[in-house]
Amino acid sequence: MSYGLRIREQVDLRDLNTMAIAAKARQFADIETTDQLVQALDTAQEQQLKTLLLGGGSNLVFAGDFDGLVLHMALRGRCWEQVQGDSAVLVLAAGENWHDAVLYAARSGYRGLENLALIPGTAGAAPVQNIGAYGVELCDTLESVTALDCGSREVVTLSAEQCQFAYRDSFFKRNPGRYIILEIRLRLSRSAPLKLDYRDLQDYLGDVDAAKLTPLEVAEAVMAVRRRKLPDPETLPNTGSFFKNPVIDKAQFERLQERFPDLVFYPIADGVKLAAAWLIDHAGWKGFRNARVGIHNRQALVLVNHSQGDGADVLALAEDVRVSVRKEFGVELEVEPGIVGAS
Ligand SMILES: Cc1cc2nc3c(=O)[nH]c(=O)nc-3n(C[C@H](O)[C@H](O)[C@H](O)COP(=O)(O)OP(=O)(O)OC[C@H]3O[C@@H](n4cnc5c(N)ncnc54)[C@H](O)[C@@H]3O)c2cc1C
Repeated sequence: MSYGLRIREQVDLRDLNTMAIAAKARQFADIETTDQLVQALDTAQEQQLKTLLLGGGSNLVFAGDFDGLVLHMALRGRCWEQVQGDSAVLVLAAGENWHDAVLYAARSGYRGLENLALIPGTAGAAPVQNIGAYGVELCDTLESVTALDCGSREVVTLSAEQCQFAYRDSFFKRNPGRYIILEIRLRLSRSAPLKLDYRDLQDYLGDVDAAKLTPLEVAEAVMAVRRRKLPDPETLPNTGSFFKNPVIDKAQFERLQERFPDLVFYPIADGVKLAAAWLIDHAGWKGFRNARVGIHNRQALVLVNHSQGDGADVLALAEDVRVSVRKEFGVELEVEPGIVGAS
């Protein structure tokens, strides 16, 4: 059954973004069906309004009000497909809560998502930046995505390869407005090895016999480790990591390492990935705060909204951090969340 589209005017988005920025949407619609989505796109086109897809608002910063139609992705539903032997495909509609889905899979005995516990947001946004944590990325299990092609208004299936996943990146992130994700399919297994090699996770688990661990126990360990380090947006608004870990070439890395022998880095195929948190911390920002916004005192990658900061406050602080890291280390930091509503 398809319900009609209801568009509201001048909607406050403060409770719909984890940075708790009080921006307004000129128009706003909850999208519960594909028909409503098509109707909303047609309406926006007729009225020449730009659109914004909004999931849980945990990877967006509102730099100002949004002068267009916000499509709040609220398509719900989850089920199992292709249950055969140890393997099964978990299908999640775009509006499903990601963390709930991780726990659901782990409680059902399926492995593959447990390291991605407690990442806020929706299933539909997870492919956009190929969410990752504790040595696991969404692309490790994602089999395909069902999406609406915004041009033709057709529903299409995209393979993992077509999604062009990379570190915190995908075709969707590079081509906003081309597709709207309706559903994702994740290939999970009851017998795949658990990934426990990430240092923080190992430290937490100590001498536990890895062979006896269940995916739910790993998810619980990940949640405990994350709670120690990351602020809960419910109590201290934030968008998680504000900057990507920068990748530099080997020559620049060797020069930097000579000056800073304790530099934290990860070698990768096409260069060296630096820990952005280390750079920000060593540029003296950890725990910094002004009247409204600041840098978290346990994780230098996280910008927090202490007291009714707006988008301008957040972006000004981010720019100060970028300038100082560039000056100190000659490294460019790239902002991870999308910036919306900027002129
Ligand atoms: C405390 C905290 C911790 C975090 N930890 C991590 C982490 O460990 N790893 C990690 O990778 N990220 C992390 N994040 C970032 C964030 O949770 C993820 O990027 C998440 O996938 C965003 O989901 P969302 O529904 O909130 O998306 P939104 O913020 O609502 O949207 C993000 C982007 O996706 C687009 N989008 C939303 N829905 C759709 C759709 N259905 N189809 C197409 N495009 C869509 C939006 O237009 C926007 O461009 C963290 C954030 C917070 C606040």
